[in-house]
Amino acid sequence: MIPFLDLKAINLAHRDELINAFTRVIDSGWYVLGNEVKQFEASFADYCNTDHCVGVSNGLDALHLILRAYGIGAGDEVIVPTNTYIATWLAATYAGATPVPVEPCIDTYNIDPSLIEAAITPRTKAIIAVHLYGQPADMDPIMAIAEKHGLKVIEDAAQAHGALYKGRKVGSLGHAAGFSFYPGKNLGALGDAGAVTTNDTELAEKIRVLLNYGSKVKYHNEVQGFNCRLDELQAALLSVKLPYLDQETQRRKEIVRQYNLGLQGLPLVLPTIMDGAESAWHLYVVRTPNRDALQKALSDLGVATMIHYPIPPHQQPAYCEFNQFSFPIAEQIHQQVLSLPLGPTMSDGEVQTVIAAITNLA
Ligand SMILES: *Cc1c(COP(=O)(O)O)cnc(C)c1O
Repeated sequence: MIPFLDLKAINLAHRDELINAFTRVIDSGWYVLGNEVKQFEASFADYCNTDHCVGVSNGLDALHLILRAYGIGAGDEVIVPTNTYIATWLAATYAGATPVPVEPCIDTYNIDPSLIEAAITPRTKAIIAVHLYGQPADMDPIMAIAEKHGLKVIEDAAQAHGALYKGRKVGSLGHAAGFSFYPGKNLGALGDAGAVTTNDTELAEKIRVLLNYGSKVKYHNEVQGFNCRLDELQAALLSVKLPYLDQETQRRKEIVRQYNLGLQGLPLVLPTIMDGAESAWHLYVVRTPNRDALQKALSDLGVATMIHYPIPPHQQPAYCEFNQFSFPIAEQIHQQVLSLPLGPTMSDGEVQTVIAAITNLA
């Protein structure tokens, strides 16, 4: 069986260091908002080339807190891609704002900048640009539109740690960015964790207050905040894994190179990366009208695949107010995409097995 992502192997590669970090935290006697969080924040800000990183509880909270800290809420609209994980939409909804969906480009699967202006109204306050599957969204035109209309641009970088857009790191491209360190992400904790990166000092300060019950000084509550803190333990574990992120991404790139070579010429749409972009390769997503049959056949051959995602947010019962609308590009993507096994511990032999299985089926 070739697993979709061997999380256990990924973490066992760092076992001794992770146990040392755990020991350091338990022996410190300090478990929330301490030096481990501070140190990880400094390293991750450095990694993303931003002035600030604020550790938070998860990726959804990162996006939600950014919107809250910008004062975006009831009566406001936030532009989101139709093609994304539902967390992007939920961030807007949690803040009390209305998500306004915009279709993606069919080749990159990321939000189509040429469709954004038509979705802007006097209520629009922000655009959440998702770097889906690891590829940066086309940020230059998005920033230009935002500047023209006075909007904030929030990157959803949950799938794109370390990806580059015209040589610049994601997380430093918009006004603020939300990252997830969910175990299956390219930089994964051993539980839930997330971060906000930004060059906006005032925003970072507001988020630090909001994430800790709205208080800067213990038991003095300036605003009605939340509990969205990053644990010391998860921060310590992330500090172990961050130095290996680039080398793990390199391994992902090598696997992608082999997939691209081995799968070319088959009746499958392979991933398209924009000129000037370098994907973090969170996922290797192919597209075919026979997706369900291919997935079943691969499963019978012992190759695990996944679908990112099977149902777009606007067709979910959770967003019944959108169920009546049709977004044909997102719907086509959701019906046709299949994510192949990909991870830093995957061997060349496993990659060749997947390629051979698909070649025989095609
Ligand atoms: C994982 C993910 C999130 C949410 O992150 P959590 O840490 O699970 O809350 C948000 N957006 C996208 C695109 C994601 O893939």
